[in-house]
Amino acid sequence: MSATPFHEAVEAIAKPLEFAARDGFARLDRLPELEKNVADAAARAQTLFVPPDVAKRFARIEAAFAKPLSAADKRAAVERALAELAPLRDPGFADAAIARGFGEIPGVGPRRAQQLAQRGLRSIADLLFHLPSRYDDRRALVRIGELEVGRRATFSGEVKVCDFGPRRGRSRTFSAVLGDESGVVTLKWFRGGEAVSAHVKKGVRLRATGDVRRYRFAKEVIHPEVDILRAAPSAAGQGLAPGAAAPEVAPGPAEGIVPDYAVPEGIPPRTFRRWVATAVEHYSDLVPSTLPARLAAERGLPPTPEALRRIHRPEPDADPEQLRLRQTGAHERLVLEELYLLELGLALRHAERAREPGIALEPARPAVRAAVAALPFRLTPAQQRAWREIAADLGEPHPMNRLLQGDVGSGKTVLAALAAVAAAESGQQAALMAPTELLAEQHARTLRTLLAGVPRMKTALLTASVPRAEADAVRAALAAGELDLVVGTHALFQSEVRFARLALVVIDEQHRFGVLQRQALAGRGAGGLHPHVLVMTATPIPRSLALTLYGDLDLSVIDALPPGRSPARTVLLREGQGKRVVELVRETLARGEQVYVVYPLVEESEKVDLRAATEQAERIRAAFAGVRVDLVHGRLDAAERSAAMARFAAGETKILVSTSVIEVGVDVANATLMVVEHAERFGLAQLHQLRGRVGRGAHPGTCVLVARGSSEDSEARLAALLDTTDGFAIADADLRIRGPGEFLGTRQHGRLPDLRFADLVRDAKLVALAREAARDTVRRNPGLARTPDLARAVHTRWGDRLALVGVG
Ligand code: ADP
Ligand code: MG
Repeated sequence: MSATPFHEAVEAIAKPLEFAARDGFARLDRLPELEKNVADAAARAQTLFVPPDVAKRFARIEAAFAKPLSAADKRAAVERALAELAPLRDPGFADAAIARGFGEIPGVGPRRAQQLAQRGLRSIADLLFHLPSRYDDRRALVRIGELEVGRRATFSGEVKVCDFGPRRGRSRTFSAVLGDESGVVTLKWFRGGEAVSAHVKKGVRLRATGDVRRYRFAKEVIHPEVDILRAAPSAAGQGLAPGAAAPEVAPGPAEGIVPDYAVPEGIPPRTFRRWVATAVEHYSDLVPSTLPARLAAERGLPPTPEALRRIHRPEPDADPEQLRLRQTGAHERLVLEELYLLELGLALRHAERAREPGIALEPARPAVRAAVAALPFRLTPAQQRAWREIAADLGEPHPMNRLLQGDVGSGKTVLAALAAVAAAESGQQAALMAPTELLAEQHARTLRTLLAGVPRMKTALLTASVPRAEADAVRAALAAGELDLVVGTHALFQSEVRFARLALVVIDEQHRFGVLQRQALAGRGAGGLHPHVLVMTATPIPRSLALTLYGDLDLSVIDALPPGRSPARTVLLREGQGKRVVELVRETLARGEQVYVVYPLVEESEKVDLRAATEQAERIRAAFAGVRVDLVHGRLDAAERSAAMARFAAGETKILVSTSVIEVGVDVANATLMVVEHAERFGLAQLHQLRGRVGRGAHPGTCVLVARGSSEDSEARLAALLDTTDGFAIADADLRIRGPGEFLGTRQHGRLPDLRFADLVRDAKLVALAREAARDTVRRNPGLARTPDLARAVHTRWGDRLALVGVG
């Protein structure tokens, strides 16, 4: 049952009534307290914020039980009262009531309803959840002489003069000069001046609220909201004698802190406020609170109805600034409610998948342990923890759905390799997908090296650049079950590739957050089952985003780098400091180490960028005569590119000039200097990736960022990069600077659920709390079978959207 004050009140009345009706009213004459109990409960119910017709039902019940009844009357009264309550006890009653249109809100006709609909406001619930964008603190009147331009303020004064301006088309501007002992300000109405002029007259005292602007040498407020404090002395005859102290109207509670809404075009703010107030007055107690009571109590949160009231009609002693910043317990309730429902949806889907049949591997086999021992290094504790989590999943007869997060260079690949060994040693196959061919090629090389100590692993590369005959052979071997591991791009699952016994798919997403349609994998596993899926991110994603975007996945985090890494030193240089760059390159070469020089590649100006990179390569060649310089870019064909990369990896090439293609994962330990040209044009994650290319070996690395332009955002990015080398901190900064939409890019943003109240930057902690609570709820109450209302709430809020979230 929904937890609403309304529902509790109804049940409180129904309970004694039902008890009385039990066993054919057998106990009726032994219930002397019945009338009082029912009347009290009905009286309490009338104090709630419920629709007038509901309150009337409560009132009729109270009246019927107001005094002691004879046995016969009692029975009839109980029956009538139960009949009154029957429609209210329908589990969908409250939901349906707040989902209704504006019929019950006086003043909202069809035309108004249409205006509201244009702003997405279609129901009473929409009004209730349309939060004020700010608040006017009308308790504190500002002296007119102290009004600040650019701020909103409430002030009072007397109308000194007022007049219409010249007619323009159909309208005339009406303006009034308002003054107090400290100064004057002009109030202006471009529309509706006729109506205003009926009240705003010379000598009237009024209180006005609005945004103060400068107009030539004066201050003015356009379309202020006005309360008449005292009518003009002559007009009403109730004015005070000139010179007498004007009675200040003490602001009552309603005039204390007044919510200010983003109002649909054409609706006067005061009118809109009244509609919301009506919705709150008559419907707020029909809004459910779904958070687990323990969590709400721990955080000290008011129930949702109370939260809505505190937000729409703040207490006189509330802090308007906290309200505006949405930093109150009331706001936290709404945020957590929203996140909890979302995470419940994700948890339900997670649980559903966890029940799906899958392929149980044997990651504990001695051969797998031997592979761990044969690695060229020891796993770090962070890697061991992540490996245990992955291994536990692989051992289950249900598909793994896990996200592996770790900073650049934290060593995720080796865990992918071990998972592949577990599959192979269990007689199954694995596939690893990289976002680019270049990276697929490198992964194939890396995996062969890492798995050199594992005798029977057969690994192959399959990309569009692999020669036809070889590719055919690989496909045949996969289909025949002769290969254990195939490395490729997403094309692996779009083409005709058939697997004999696929059990594991590893997706190395790099920073692209590429989406793999889950359908593409469905049934591709051995026996028509779903394979285990491990998604690896290239650079960390802020936790709040990971938990919403990938909320139906389990999360493993490698939070420490392998030992012996010293973070790259970062140097920021500006236009004109080219000499310093040359010096650094020279010093690096003198030590026998290698250099990357990277240029941005913006699609529209690809040619221009390529020309810049080419020219720079020429200049470098000229400056460092006798040093081998290579240029790689996206337009080279695969063979040329890989030959160039191989020359650099072998140390033949000393300086590699490239457009940002190298960002995706080259791993050359002897390269220690990274020069990023036009650093201001790269994203934060990209810069972090690039910096991660140096300092991988024994020698410390240096990253030189050459900024040739600047904007607020680019400066913030560069500052974040100078500030820290921790990828998780950088991801947080990136999210803060860009916001979730930009951070993810348009395509991915579409996968983010549209959150009304939660802010993934501000509310990062609450996301984690909501996730824990949701997973816990679903564990205790599988499928939410015991709480159909909650299941319905999840569905109503997120039903359509959930399909879009996650790995598809
Ligand atoms: P990423 O997480 O960015 O994909 P990689 O898997 O490419 O990182 O690993 C980065 C480098 O660290 C590789 O050269 C890898 O061999 C090395 N590495 C991984 N784990 C360890 C470890 N436990 N000890 C030492 N070096 C390691
Ligand atoms: Mg990697």
